[in-house]
Parts: sequence; C-alpha cells; structure tokens
Amino acid sequence: MSHDKVLPFAVPDIGQQEIDAVVGVLRSRWLTTGQECARFEQEFAAAVGASHAVALNSCTAALHLSLEALGVGSDDLVFMSPYTFAATAEVVRYLGAKPVFVDIDRMTLNMDPQLLRLAIRRSLDEGTGRPSAIMPVHIAGVPCAMDEIWDIARENELAVVEDAAHAFPATRDGHRVGRLPEDIRGAVCFSFYATKTITTGEGGMLTTEDQALADRARSMSLHGLSRQAWSRYAEGGGWAYDIIAPGYKYNLTDVAAAMGRVQLTRAEEMWKRRSEIAGAYTEAFGDLDQVECPVVPPGVNSAWHLYLLRVNPGTGALSRDELIDALGARRVGTSVHFIPLHLHSYYKDKYGYEPDDFPVALAEFERAVSLPIYSAISDADAQRVIDEVTAVTSRSVRPRGRPRPGNAVGW
Ligand SMILES: *Cc1c(COP(=O)(O)O)cnc(C)c1O
Repeated sequence: MSHDKVLPFAVPDIGQQEIDAVVGVLRSRWLTTGQECARFEQEFAAAVGASHAVALNSCTAALHLSLEALGVGSDDLVFMSPYTFAATAEVVRYLGAKPVFVDIDRMTLNMDPQLLRLAIRRSLDEGTGRPSAIMPVHIAGVPCAMDEIWDIARENELAVVEDAAHAFPATRDGHRVGRLPEDIRGAVCFSFYATKTITTGEGGMLTTEDQALADRARSMSLHGLSRQAWSRYAEGGGWAYDIIAPGYKYNLTDVAAAMGRVQLTRAEEMWKRRSEIAGAYTEAFGDLDQVECPVVPPGVNSAWHLYLLRVNPGTGALSRDELIDALGARRVGTSVHFIPLHLHSYYKDKYGYEPDDFPVALAEFERAVSLPIYSAISDADAQRVIDEVTAVTSRSVRPRGRPRPGNAVGW
C-alpha cells in the first residue's frame, strides 16, 4: 500500500478545551505571569506530590535556575549522562562549571549508577574540580535508578537536579518523578515544549521540597526582583521592588499556563493512549530479530514520551540510517534521540572527548530510532507505523552473500 500523506513524528494533542482556555486568557487581558500560572503551579505540584512548583518558560530555564540556586559555579563538577539533549549540559556551562559525562545502562539508556560512583571517585583522586551535583535524565520517560543515585548523592554530599523533560507522568516503585526525598538538596525539571507529553507550546516547571530554592528560582526567573510583577500590579500590590541579583527573564505567560492547566487534566488519558500504542508496537515488533523493543524495568511506569526502537546489528537488518530512509520514503516520520553530547564539536574540542570514551552511549545511539508515539495518533496511523516498520525490516533480511542493494530505499 502506498500513502501520499505524511505521518508526522510528533503532533500535539490540542482540543477545544485548550483553545477555549487560551481565548479566555486573551479576553481577560492579563497575558503575562498571573493567576493562571499560580494555579498551574499548585495543580502541577499536587499532581507529582511536590511541596513547591515554579512555572517557567522552558525546562532549560528550570535546569539553569536550579543549578544557580544550588550555588553551582566555576570549578564545580556536574555528573550526567551524555545520552541527552543539548540543554542538560549547556546550563552547566552557563555557570562556568564542568559537565562530567557518565556512560549509560544498555537496557534503559539511563546513567549507570556504578559508573557514576567510579566517575566521582576518579574526579576526587585526580583533583579535577569539586563534585557538586548529579543530573539524572529520565530518557524516553523511564525513571533512572533514583534510590541508588540518591544514596550516592548522600554519601558524597551532592545536590540532585533531575532532567525530567520526558518524565511526566512517570513512577518508579510507586514514587512519582517530581518529588525528591526531604534530605536531598535539589530540584526536578519538566518540559512543556511542543513535542513533550503535556505542552504549553514552550514552557517548563521546577519542583522542589526546598522553599529557599523555590524562592530564589522564582526571583531569578524575573530579573532577580524581590516581588513578582503580578503582585506589583495586582489589586493591593505595591509599586516598590528591589533587585537582589542580576536575574534572567524566564517567567511563563498566563496564555501558556491556561493551556497547561487543561493539558494537566488530560495527562492521564493521554498517557494511557501512549501506553496503548507502545503495547501495540511491542506486540508487533517483539518477535522480529532485526529490532529490539524498549523494555521498562519492573516497578516502573514509563511516561512513554518516546518509543525508542533499536536495530540489531549482525542480523542482516537494515542499519539505523537505512531504516530511517526507508520509513521516510514511505512517509513515516521518525527521529533520533540523541546524538550523545561527547560527539558534538563543542564538548569534543573543549574537553578532548573521544567517541569511545562512552562506548555504550555511542553503540546505542548508532542503532536507535524513535517511532511516532502521541495520543493524537489515529488507530489507522498507528497500524500504518506497524505495517511499514514490519515491511521494511522483514525485507531487509537478505540471503547470505548477496550484495546489499545500492539504494537502501529503492524497494
Ligand atoms: C526537551 C528537552 C529539554 C529541554 O526542554 P525545553 O522545555 O525545550 O527547554 C531538556 N532535556 C531533555 C532531555 C529534553 O528532551
């Protein structure tokens, strides 16, 4: 069957309720940070069981403000996996600190706690800087092994800033991502970017148990002012303010927050739909030798932000690039998460990383392809993904000794 219609990799699930909420804010004439943001914060904090939530205009801003509030600065070392997006490491560089990469677990693609322990010890032995924080990234929506990582943080007196851009809503051993143990210094950062599990177009949220951290982040999100603009301009608010530090401009708008509040009420329904699609994919692809389906560890609920399929080399399968090209020729959108950070020019040049320094991240990246998984996908389109992936991979098994076709997409 041939389709002319493009099946996009990601489409936000926006309905009439979101449209009405945004229009309501526009009619109110209160566009910037105000009551909608305040309510979104309360509702989000309740959803993840956190004590404090600060609405921001991106997850990147939340990561930056978390590290800033924790006092991370030059000569500090921040430990993270290289298997992540640009944002996780760049915020460390904003503050003049050094991102120290730690290789990943082959199955979950999350930071390997044993290797984290070794990396901290090595940095102490070599005296390369002061270990200050760990940034676990919950790739695809699968929470990291947080019990072990929190223990390592306690033993070494390190702060923890979780990059939970993929991880709403996700749980591990009944524990919701978004609430840190009371004895851990740190914060959890969520993304509401257009492709994420709930969206405000652009937006993010910082959650924490630490009142002082929340206060600092809130102030620094608005020029380091001592008061929020909305309390200055709200009825009963005064005109006076003080600048306590040179801050940033990271506040969320009420237009975005209104969309986020509706998305939050629909988060579970949308998660169930993504889980259903993941189940259908795994049922369809589980028996194919050419690919490996994502595995969710016991006790974990993935947020299913991504369905990260991996091509098995040595099975006569297409390479990852050939699979992407073949699906592209059939108009099925895919993506790759992620090109590990140590392969990028900036980190390579600045820190002298070699591709083999993180062999698991390198090998898994080379065989990873993300398939469409979003609640707005129709049953027919989900079936089309299944049919096209199955057709393309089963045709890729060639008898031994036959030359590979020159054009991978010329079926
Ligand atoms: C999307 C993403 C971010 C950044 O989120 P923004 O809201 O766009 O700033 C950070 N980390 C990871 C792993 C992401 O995928």
